[in-house]
Amino acid sequence: MTALTAIIEAEIAAQGPMPLSRYMQLCLSHPEHGYYMQQQPFGADGDFTTAPEISQMFGELIGLWLVHMWQESGAPDHFILLELGPGRGTLMADILRVAKLAPAFLEAAEVCLLETSTRLQAVQREALGDMRHIARLEDLPSGPVFAIANEFFDALPIRQFIKNDFGWQERLVGEGLTWVLSDTVQQPDLEAAFASLETGRIVEVAAASQAIANTLTKRIATQGGAALIVDYGGFDGIGDTFQAVLQHQKAEPFSAPGKADLTAHVRFKDLVQNGVAHGFTTQGQFLTRLGIEARKQALATAGAKGVAADMARLTSPNEMGKLFKVLALVPEGHGEIAGFEHGT
Ligand code: SAH
Repeated sequence: MTALTAIIEAEIAAQGPMPLSRYMQLCLSHPEHGYYMQQQPFGADGDFTTAPEISQMFGELIGLWLVHMWQESGAPDHFILLELGPGRGTLMADILRVAKLAPAFLEAAEVCLLETSTRLQAVQREALGDMRHIARLEDLPSGPVFAIANEFFDALPIRQFIKNDFGWQERLVGEGLTWVLSDTVQQPDLEAAFASLETGRIVEVAAASQAIANTLTKRIATQGGAALIVDYGGFDGIGDTFQAVLQHQKAEPFSAPGKADLTAHVRFKDLVQNGVAHGFTTQGQFLTRLGIEARKQALATAGAKGVAADMARLTSPNEMGKLFKVLALVPEGHGEIAGFEHGT
């Protein structure tokens, strides 16, 4: 039993079964016992390896994309360079290094990191120097925002609902940390969105993700900028994608609260809201269009080891290339977006 088990059981005893979103929030972000406060998530010794931790090529190409988008938007002399959920700070470090090629971009950038974990804030300060941290997107300074989020949205809490013959029921976490179904609940939004869904199917609702996308959208629409969101999932997938990962293996999500990473696939459609234009493609296509092949050659020529294998891990359809998707949000009327030419 973990410290969090007792806390969660007590809350269930007092208030009844909790939505999955509450369970995820406690497991991942409890200020003392949450996963991101306590565990070492990243890398070979951790629970999972993210793209920037595989190769510098990932962050370099994204850095070049951000510089390009900034230039296309008229190279504003002050803007916010935002990363959501920066982990160990590796991606931002690669972005800032490659951006030295465009000194005016670095000069104009005010780096801002959205991070709730105080432990990871310290790790990021170590990697990047003193950067501005915010815990809520509402605290973002004003100005155009050029934003990047890699494997951030999959970590945000979701709720699950199941469609039954007599209506919708919510899947809740009950006593003994087991699934229980709520009484039938009125869900007009779900009814409208999933009218033709067969009974017995599960849908996931990511309200926190939608709220963050909404804030980003409003900022891009009113003050300019662009956002790049990379994660696993699909444009409009349906079904149960909730999972726990511990030491690179799938784990049982209720067995050790706070010890395993909990995630769900991202439903990118939910992140596309009125007010901006978007591009959507696979990670493999995106990195290929941005020139990962040439970057790999250059690194190999300079003597770097393993770059061909790293490139394959990032781009091959059997590895991260197809499961991982890339969504760009840009101001309306932007036209073709670099990396997203000719659709998926
Ligand atoms: N982008 C990094 C790490 C991804 S892990 C990489 O690619 O390696 C998810 C990150 O999001 C962690 O830094 C975690 O602490 C942070 N995070 C999770 N939930 C958050 C929330 N609600 N608000 C802000 N940061 C959050």
